[in-house]
Amino acid sequence: MRIVDIREKSIDISRYSDPAIPSGGLTTSIVSVTTDVVRNGVPVIGYGFSSMGRFAQGGLIRERFGPRLLAAGDVTPLEAWTAMMKGEKAGGHGERCVAVGTLDMALWDAAAKAADLPLHGYLVQEFGGGNALATIPAYASGGYLYPDNDLSRLTDELKAFADAGYCRAKIKIGATTLERDLARTDAASAIFGPGCLAVDAMNAYDAEQGLAAAKALKSRRLMWFEDVCDPHDFEAQSRIAGAYDAPIAAGEALFSAAEAKLLDRHGGLRRDRDILLFDPVHCYGLPGYVEILIALEGRGWPRSAFWPHGGHLFSLHVASALGLGGVEVNPSSFPPFGGLVDQARPDNGRISPPDLAGIGFEGKPDLAALFSAL
Ligand code: MG
Repeated sequence: MRIVDIREKSIDISRYSDPAIPSGGLTTSIVSVTTDVVRNGVPVIGYGFSSMGRFAQGGLIRERFGPRLLAAGDVTPLEAWTAMMKGEKAGGHGERCVAVGTLDMALWDAAAKAADLPLHGYLVQEFGGGNALATIPAYASGGYLYPDNDLSRLTDELKAFADAGYCRAKIKIGATTLERDLARTDAASAIFGPGCLAVDAMNAYDAEQGLAAAKALKSRRLMWFEDVCDPHDFEAQSRIAGAYDAPIAAGEALFSAAEAKLLDRHGGLRRDRDILLFDPVHCYGLPGYVEILIALEGRGWPRSAFWPHGGHLFSLHVASALGLGGVEVNPSSFPPFGGLVDQARPDNGRISPPDLAGIGFEGKPDLAALFSAL
């Protein structure tokens, strides 16, 4: 397929279902890539966005990666990725990994639509189907600190997750005192019991704060303790892991196979229990993600340790096609990007990617309308 037009728009997104609650000025890029492939009399268009939490990428997409893609000629998604990365030096990932990942998502959407396949089916063809899973374990993610009535609103949010059929959930800590975070954790644990609740410190702790939190959380039988410190502070990561026997999750803010190998070598993680959160959009798209997967599998990590960050449909297709351990879902955060297609529900804690052609954004009317407006 040849890419003949690219559109990008930066839009506001919210961590809360109520976008009136301040959300730190968070934005994302939505993109469309129009191809020269025609299906049912209309051109095939792929859609993508910058996952969650790392802001919009309009400048890099418009100035650098979009023009390279438009000049790439007739390409598969993997060839398109090589064209986008032409001339880029190794290291110093900055924001460009997310810009490339955003366009990469749209390219896979377009290629799968051109093949008239749901993305997971297309990826099984591309990467081999030996590990594919029809259903994937999932957890509901959210639980950000509310500016007022935090505990009662947190409880309502988690009850809604349970009512929607989720058996596991994750909440955020690290944005308030440890004492308040322990109260939040205990309130959430009353709904999602032992082994079913994870907490995410959003890389907020230094080594001493992380050790104090680990000590307090130890007895609470969590599903995992996530993003415990600065993602590059492997010394702190390793000290905290040494003081916390239960599962730890890391990797969401690391963007390359080289960084993944540093985490493995120096972060103190345990292959028999810990969780790897690399985000297929944040680490230069699916080609970058697969490189990380292969590198860490080669070092003895099981594929079941990979639970990609993102909470969106793209990660769900990737997890299904590659046979990963599980996925995040954002049932209420980051509307309209989070959550499943309308009417889809978890079954016994597991979910399936939509059967629509491509990623299936068209199965979420609010999101489809946003993309169409491009
Ligand atoms: Mg996280």
